[in-house]
Amino acid sequence: MKKITLLCTLILLVAAPSFAELTKIADNVYSYVGLANDSPANSFAANAGIVIGRDGILVVDTLISAKEAQRFLADIRKVSDKPIRYVVNTHTHLDHAFGNCVFAKLGGATVISHAADRAFLEKAGEATLKNIGAYGLKPEDMAGTEITYPTLTFSERLTIDLGGETVELIRTAPSHTEGSLIVHLPAKKVAFSGDILFTDFHPFLADADINGWTAALDAMMGMDIEKIIPGHGPLSTKKDLRDLKAYLLLFDAKARQMAADGSGDAETVAAALRQILPKRSQAEWMIPINVKSRYLGKR
Ligand SMILES: [Zn+2]
Repeated sequence: MKKITLLCTLILLVAAPSFAELTKIADNVYSYVGLANDSPANSFAANAGIVIGRDGILVVDTLISAKEAQRFLADIRKVSDKPIRYVVNTHTHLDHAFGNCVFAKLGGATVISHAADRAFLEKAGEATLKNIGAYGLKPEDMAGTEITYPTLTFSERLTIDLGGETVELIRTAPSHTEGSLIVHLPAKKVAFSGDILFTDFHPFLADADINGWTAALDAMMGMDIEKIIPGHGPLSTKKDLRDLKAYLLLFDAKARQMAADGSGDAETVAAALRQILPKRSQAEWMIPINVKSRYLGKR
């Protein structure tokens, strides 16, 4: 009996690492990337991360719920016991910002976003939480989750000195959302892109400005960076920025043309897009949602 239990435990250990793990990307910089499970309750596999300075920790994104943020916080505590000084929302979509409450409750952390994304959270946050079933989540997935607003906002650039670690928050143009920002660590040649970059995931386009987004990707291509932690997907490079730009332009041109021609419903347009879009292994279900929300005039 004991042997069987041990065997079952071993099998579970081998099969289960679907959650993100904190991975050292550079000195004092860790990504929190989980690829195997992109279910809604697992934050649609949204990425996060931390930067550790002499004076404390800066957290990049907080995942989809109190439960998810608690898992993240417990993993942070395995790496550092320094105080959490800053929480940055790369944008305020639920899978990146609804875990804010867990970090805010610790006390002492300033929650930061771009002004436009704070406004977006004020407009949409409570309604999204009330209507969470529409995102494939159950009320128990969201237990303890409270919408928590950023307390510090900016418009173009904000520099944070963490004590020996300089962190630049940069928003070049409206892109994935109006206030999507890049967390740049110039000394490390590392950036957290939030959802300005999706790698091997189909991107979410409903709130996007496509022209601004390609401009933001161009701006990142011009930055001195070697490693990018995308909003969804594995550790990336500038090649992935170029790939997403090509994807966005192709998607936008084809969907726009088919909508103008009146050539069918969201599924028909999505089927045509699947034929021409570069292959991405995750979140193909996003294609018809993007078509419906942006090009056929309903959400
Ligand atoms: Zn997003």
